[in-house]
Amino acid sequence: MTTETQAATPSEPTSLCEPCQGIQRNWRGAPGHAELQQGNHRKELRGNVQVTITGYFCDRCGTHWHYTNDKTNQRAGWSVVVD
Ligand SMILES: [Zn+2]
Repeated sequence: MTTETQAATPSEPTSLCEPCQGIQRNWRGAPGHAELQQGNHRKELRGNVQVTITGYFCDRCGTHWHYTNDKTNQRAGWSVVVD
């Protein structure tokens, strides 16, 4: 399993609205924005650490986000869900 940073990946969706573009990804504790609607959440095991993943849906541009809450990983946080 590789955990390479995806920050330099050029295949970013370009349809993100401005507030979504402003979300700092893969950073623990980064805030979302006011137009995100919280969806359901689930718990998942990453190795032997339990993390909570919460789904969000942007009212403005329809982007589906996940916020991963992992106390042990500073680089867990927001990520765009590509269906
Ligand atoms: Zn948006």
